[in-house]
Amino acid sequence: MEDTKSLQAADEKHLWHAMRGAAANPANLIITNAEGAWVTDSEGNKYLDGMSGLWCVNVGYGRKELAKAAYEQLEEMPYYPLTQSHIPAIKLAEKLNEWLGDDYVIFFSNSGSEANETAFKIARQYHQQRGDSGRFKFISRYRAYHGNTMGALAATGQAQRKFKYEPLGQGFLHVKPPDTYRNPDDVHTLASADEIDHMMTWELSETIAGVIMEPIITGGGILMPPEGYMAKVQEICNKHGALLICDEVICGFGRTGKPFGFMNYDVQPDIITMAKGITSGYLPLSATAVKREIFEAYTGAGDYERFRHVNTYGGSPAACAVALKNLEILENEGLVDRSQEVGERLLQELKETEEHPNVGNVRGKGLLVGIELVKDKQTKEPLEVAKVNQVVAACREKGLLIGKNGDTVAGYNNILQLSPPLTITDDDLAFMVNTLKTSIAAL
Ligand code: PMP
Repeated sequence: MEDTKSLQAADEKHLWHAMRGAAANPANLIITNAEGAWVTDSEGNKYLDGMSGLWCVNVGYGRKELAKAAYEQLEEMPYYPLTQSHIPAIKLAEKLNEWLGDDYVIFFSNSGSEANETAFKIARQYHQQRGDSGRFKFISRYRAYHGNTMGALAATGQAQRKFKYEPLGQGFLHVKPPDTYRNPDDVHTLASADEIDHMMTWELSETIAGVIMEPIITGGGILMPPEGYMAKVQEICNKHGALLICDEVICGFGRTGKPFGFMNYDVQPDIITMAKGITSGYLPLSATAVKREIFEAYTGAGDYERFRHVNTYGGSPAACAVALKNLEILENEGLVDRSQEVGERLLQELKETEEHPNVGNVRGKGLLVGIELVKDKQTKEPLEVAKVNQVVAACREKGLLIGKNGDTVAGYNNILQLSPPLTITDDDLAFMVNTLKTSIAAL
């Protein structure tokens, strides 16, 4: 293999990395191999991947069955657009319905952002198809991330990510997210859900197309909904005639200990968007699942009555074949239940770090955990970024890769994130917990 220095030089010269610019571009990890929950860099260093890549490698690395599914499908029939049909897409749409537990019709795309864009377009046109043509606005929560494209970024509630890219898509409004740590009263009052109700009234119900939310805000800091929050939001949507869209891009496919995150909260969304864990990141694929009655509102065959939306690669045969095999693995290995069971243990063990003066709150569901670091437990003032980074760096030094929320409200980049593969072994879990404990203790 080429040596790291020449790879780094070529990398620095030619690759523009995500979230970087010329002055801060160099990649410091070049990953060359991966197996189970572990990745290996070009120097031979091994790291436990506590983030499943970007929250996506749910079944772990090195799954030969997935590589084989892609290879065989590429040989058999590599491409045909979904303006017509092919077997892997049919089978996957059928399978996703089993996972969703209700009657949904599936539109395939390639990324989480596209799945959300698709949802917005479907929702807007749905209202128009029914003669309710004033509805175009979407409500989402501050701190939530919904994607990088002009509509999905507009729905994103993280101002720093939008700065310099505006104007974005129009008609996207934001409300305060629930935050059971910083606003404990919300647990009893559900005031953050009421805000959605008020916004719909003030903005005029007849202009609201829908609400988009992750069941648990992930990238924005693992913000858990208080009990009853999601059910209340669904009730509010019903009252105002708006659709409830669940962004399951991270929460789906077992991440939170249920097939989909919303299943923890007794709601049945009108539209569900998914990506990442659908193929465990092995190939790009996303899906927008819509309740049958929404699909059926597209009654006419006329030019402006159909859904005028297509993408070249969405639902490509190999990606669908990989997704099918991935779902089979999740099912056969009981990984959704494992996520719940192992997640409970992980949360319990990490809760012990709350004894440390800088650990304000540890929270999560399934194999999704956030550790909120503070300067002062009384005031809950966020810990300085440099010190948060110190914990991330100390973990890495010891062979553990973890995440940290970055682009939320200024001063709120103090939350460590964990989202390991659902296949993580007990030994690896113990390593993760111990490494985190010692890295936090060194603060
Ligand atoms: N929604 C959520 C909740 C996400 O976390 C992400 C990506 N991290 C997206 C949407 C966008 O997905 P993608 O990067 O595949 O476009």
